[in-house]
Amino acid sequence: MEQNWAGNIAYQAREVARPRSVDALRQLVADRDRVRALGSRHSFNDLADGQGTLVSLEEMPDEIVVTGQQVSVPAGVRYGVLAEFLAERGLALPNMASLPHISVAGAIATATHGSGDGNGCLSTAVAGLELVTSSGGLRTLWRGDPEFAGSVVALGALGVITRVTLDVRPAFEVRQQVYPSVPWSTVAGELAEVFASGYSVSVFTDWVGPAQVWVKSLDPVALPYTPADGPVHMLPGESVAAVTEQGGVPGPWLDRLPHFRLGHKPSAGAELQSEYLLPRDSAPEALARLREMGPRIAPLLQITELRTVAADTLWLSPAGGRDVLGIHFTWKLDVPGVTGLLPDIEAVLLPLGARPHWGKLFHTSEISTLYPRWTDFLELRAHHDPKGKFTNPFLDRLT
Ligand SMILES: Cc1cc2nc3c(=O)[nH]c(=O)nc-3n(C[C@H](O)[C@H](O)[C@H](O)COP(=O)(O)OP(=O)(O)OC[C@H]3O[C@@H](n4cnc5c(N)ncnc54)[C@H](O)[C@@H]3O)c2cc1C
Repeated sequence: MEQNWAGNIAYQAREVARPRSVDALRQLVADRDRVRALGSRHSFNDLADGQGTLVSLEEMPDEIVVTGQQVSVPAGVRYGVLAEFLAERGLALPNMASLPHISVAGAIATATHGSGDGNGCLSTAVAGLELVTSSGGLRTLWRGDPEFAGSVVALGALGVITRVTLDVRPAFEVRQQVYPSVPWSTVAGELAEVFASGYSVSVFTDWVGPAQVWVKSLDPVALPYTPADGPVHMLPGESVAAVTEQGGVPGPWLDRLPHFRLGHKPSAGAELQSEYLLPRDSAPEALARLREMGPRIAPLLQITELRTVAADTLWLSPAGGRDVLGIHFTWKLDVPGVTGLLPDIEAVLLPLGARPHWGKLFHTSEISTLYPRWTDFLELRAHHDPKGKFTNPFLDRLT
């Protein structure tokens, strides 16, 4: 059977179906007992897996349609492909994740995010959804519909999304400057200023040494740190051919906002990932406590990335109702080591209001206390999927 991008999850489903039309997809969903939609498989846990049929949309029609300041896209399109289509028409997405390889439907289902004090997660750009329901019906939802805020970050639990309408904006230029060695005490002491210094800012740390600060800005920025004298990969030893252009050179948004180029391997490849998003005012305490755990974290870690995400109103978004700092861990591919450490990290972060990234590894299954609208989401599921066609072991574990 097939596996996820990282290779740490071998899918347990019986089959992977690749329908070629919406009608074929509707028939397939109506006929099967258990269905899970599969995106580009970049999640690190068993969220996308299921016990019946996985549906890949990679052979569905690929038409992209721009109408004014919105674009309607096939659910399985990758952000990199969409970004090139938009850029050729003088348009842009408001933000992107670190990699352009992921599918739109898979990313919005988990509240995938980039960085930026003023930037919501990618799901906040969604204006409309079309999805195949458990009976094989076709349902359309628009921003403002009462169920919309519960249906965008929906973990594949409400149906198979076929098309997504996204807000777009006029194309813009971004410049990316990397400061490769900033003392941790400086970054921790000036956290708000560092994150406010650009359109999209990332801080990388190994929890024991100095930090790297990556600033993607609309205008020239000169932070009072020494900039890199050449291209930098956030992971020591990885090829700088994979990263988007740095050095403060202005360029199209799609060639700067993601860290990695579409034609190259994103990140390390042999890795696991976890991420926790917590209210910005809890960030100083969280960072100080994790820094104390640095000697335990560092041996398992490739790199940590800190990013900010603006508050939104989506029920299952980790940024729902609060501006957050995302504390991300790119781990070595050491499943026992990482799964052994996560409970201790969560013991620090969850009491501070952290919510785990849905698509990465986490330990807790007690989700209801983390999301005020969790019960509403369960009711939405029960209403639209009374027989649990779209459930899976991952969703069944959550309490
Ligand atoms: C190298 C790397 C870098 C990453 N960087 C970031 C980052 O910068 N920011 C961040 O937030 N995350 C990041 N992630 C995590 C990743 O963005 C999420 O796991 C995302 O959900 C993956 O999307 P996917 O298309 O691979 O979906 P999958 O992993 O295949 O599926 C994820 C979920 O989406 C659902 N889904 C997929 N398609 C549909 C559909 N058509 N209808 C309904 N539901 C659907 C699935 O059922 C599943 O629940 C990274 C992952 C990797 C491997």
